[in-house]
Amino acid sequence: MISNCFATLSTRVWLAGCAFALAASVAHAEPEAPLFHDSHFHLTNYIQEGVDIQDFLELMGDDVGRVALFGIPLQQTWSHGNTGDFAPTYYLHTDAPLYYYSFTDAYIAQTYLSLDQAQRDRFDPMITGFNPADMYGVEHIRRVLHTFPGVFSGIGEFSIHKEFVSSKVAGETASLVDPALDRIFEFTAETGLVSILHCDIDVPFADQMQEPIYLRQMAALLRRHSDATIIWAHTGLGRVVTPKTSSASASATTRSSNHLEYLKMALADEGLDHVYFDISWDEVAKYIVASEARIEAMAAMVNAYPTRFLFGTDAVAPRERESYMKVYRQYAPLWDALTPEARRLVTRGNYERVFDRARERVRAWERENVAGYGQVQDKG
Ligand SMILES: [Zn+2]
Repeated sequence: MISNCFATLSTRVWLAGCAFALAASVAHAEPEAPLFHDSHFHLTNYIQEGVDIQDFLELMGDDVGRVALFGIPLQQTWSHGNTGDFAPTYYLHTDAPLYYYSFTDAYIAQTYLSLDQAQRDRFDPMITGFNPADMYGVEHIRRVLHTFPGVFSGIGEFSIHKEFVSSKVAGETASLVDPALDRIFEFTAETGLVSILHCDIDVPFADQMQEPIYLRQMAALLRRHSDATIIWAHTGLGRVVTPKTSSASASATTRSSNHLEYLKMALADEGLDHVYFDISWDEVAKYIVASEARIEAMAAMVNAYPTRFLFGTDAVAPRERESYMKVYRQYAPLWDALTPEARRLVTRGNYERVFDRARERVRAWERENVAGYGQVQDKG
């Protein structure tokens, strides 16, 4: 039984999606540059190492217009007692814990401020270095805005439930019902900061027949913060968090049905108009383009709700253009199945609308609340 934590789907909207799909198959000329804006990009990795921003600008070239720029809020501990001289660079490389690394925000801010104005205009820096299970977490976000006014557009990507990561984080485990998280979203509503939230909709290797474990808590959280702008990363999917199926024996082509149903119900729910979905990460793209049927089903939904999806790579400190462009290329069959307008919105238009509004609102909040705002050194 599909849970009714979201309002029911209107058939009319769904049919519109099918009509759109028809239109899509007609005209899919190669879009003009830039090909996309990247709503999900990590400049540094789990040991806070990354690529030089000027080298990254080279990788972007003319194909990538703007980028939501952030690090990774967690540092992977290198515990000699655990892996000896082997230096882990990823959370799957060792059992040693992860801990919140707040300096990432100063690093991202300084990186942004090292650019000239034209280069700055291509980036939307995001604050990530806070602990969402700490009632003081929101104070870190406020302090970063006061310390680096004129820089940040949002918060995230930050995670609440993320497969093998959440349980490795030292300290209190983050949760969707923690008032510390409500304080953070209340502050984003006040300031205009856009949020990118990573929260797996379910536990790893979940029972295909069960309702996703975190679905109701997530629905309630999103509903509690209708005046915030929230991007649910990866549509709630992830590594080993696969699209739910209608029956254990369902073939690959039907397995995506329940997940799509949950998404459609959320999209049709007027109380959740402030929620967007990014389709970033190669792990997610592989689910979505796994079969003709899945591409068609996803395209029909995106064509029906073209203003609610954002493309992102979820690339982490890429050094080659090929690896950076990989996810965009993976989605080629989806791009071809979208109407030209839906493709424009998902790859560029929605980013511009959501992040321009965030920039404007956060700057206005800073002018109101940050003493002496305007003294940021201007290299432009
Ligand atoms: Zn990410």
